[in-house]
Amino acid sequence: MTNATDWKAIEAKYYMQVVRRRPLVLVRGEGTKVFDDQGREFLDFTAGWAVLNLGHAHPAVTAAIRDQAGQIMQMSNLYYTTPQLKLAQILIDHSCFDRIFFANSGAEANEGASKLARKYGKQRLNGAHEIITTFNSFHGRTQAMMAATGQPHYQENWKPLMPGFVNVEYNNIDAIKRATTDKTCAVLVEPVQGEGGVNVPAPDYLKKVQAWCKEKKLLFMVDEVQTGMGRLGTLFGYQQFGVEPDVMTLAKALGAGAPLGAFLCKQEFSVLEPGDHGSTFGGNALTTAAGWAAAKVMVDENIPAKAARTGVYFMGKLAALKEKHSFVRDVRGMGLLIGFELADNRSAALMQECEKNGLLVNSVRPNTIRFMPPLTVSNAEIDRAVEIFDRALSTVPAPKPA
Ligand SMILES: *Cc1c(COP(=O)(O)O)cnc(C)c1O
Repeated sequence: MTNATDWKAIEAKYYMQVVRRRPLVLVRGEGTKVFDDQGREFLDFTAGWAVLNLGHAHPAVTAAIRDQAGQIMQMSNLYYTTPQLKLAQILIDHSCFDRIFFANSGAEANEGASKLARKYGKQRLNGAHEIITTFNSFHGRTQAMMAATGQPHYQENWKPLMPGFVNVEYNNIDAIKRATTDKTCAVLVEPVQGEGGVNVPAPDYLKKVQAWCKEKKLLFMVDEVQTGMGRLGTLFGYQQFGVEPDVMTLAKALGAGAPLGAFLCKQEFSVLEPGDHGSTFGGNALTTAAGWAAAKVMVDENIPAKAARTGVYFMGKLAALKEKHSFVRDVRGMGLLIGFELADNRSAALMQECEKNGLLVNSVRPNTIRFMPPLTVSNAEIDRAVEIFDRALSTVPAPKPA
């Protein structure tokens, strides 16, 4: 039998070393729990990167995948296949959008949305093609999305960046106004920044962005790859802010673990025509069957509302930890996307200590832990996680000054 040490050696020998992988070989999951090849159990508060909003191995999703795999997995989009049609319908019925295109990932969804924005600019704004995005955003790792992602460490080694993206300060409407020129065709923002450290904007920020876009006829686009599908406590994150974007992108939780993305737009801005865009796997029957099963559970059982309640409970517990430990600087978030910021860089050490004690969390910044458990997480599981985290806060020492 292959043991964990061998798996690690294989990875070390064969892989491009682009991930600082944790030394765990995970073989099975159920709900909020995952199990490694040694039979150890962990509470998974990373949820496969905010993907498993219904938890691991949700019976409805598993059944849908099994069933679809036995029928038809893939045809080209030259033909109709039914799972993607059902998923399109449920997403449009529950959002402010009219049209959808299916992709395979978040980066691809944003690429497609950016193409739509450029065509819109070409047709209706005299060839305007620039998209305003924000610092500390994350939009993916393709050539264009590295330019959209306003973080130096995703950009430095790959310059010159693809032209057509302008990065400005987040949560600052004046920065967007100042950056707007006759070349601007769209603004793309996350309702809450996830990878950038869980940054929640002022309650009226998105409203102001929407108003500005309307005034200047720019497309108001939201990247809901992380905030979509219930994460913030509503099915889509924009619903928390009283706005209706023109374009939205989804991925992560959309396929409930199967690789699936999408971008949606209002009818008025549906400028793509036959031949403009496409994807071999986009809308694949297997991934959209998983997505449809998950979306149906999400809606039928009102999982987003549950996430909102659990989020309040979790935030309350974390706020108490802030009172208890003097080096905790900030607890912030919305729904079940929560950031826990420290006054020093002990986040990686905390993550490792939690892991030793059976809790998986994400060290999203050197000084910030990000919690993104399945939305189905129970209060008892939250209690257990907070207990482990509290103990880690008490035992992990402050880093030595550099
Ligand atoms: C993860 C993420 C992406 C990129 O998604 P991939 O599927 O990794 O390409 C884009 N935008 C946001 C907001 C994300 O969180």
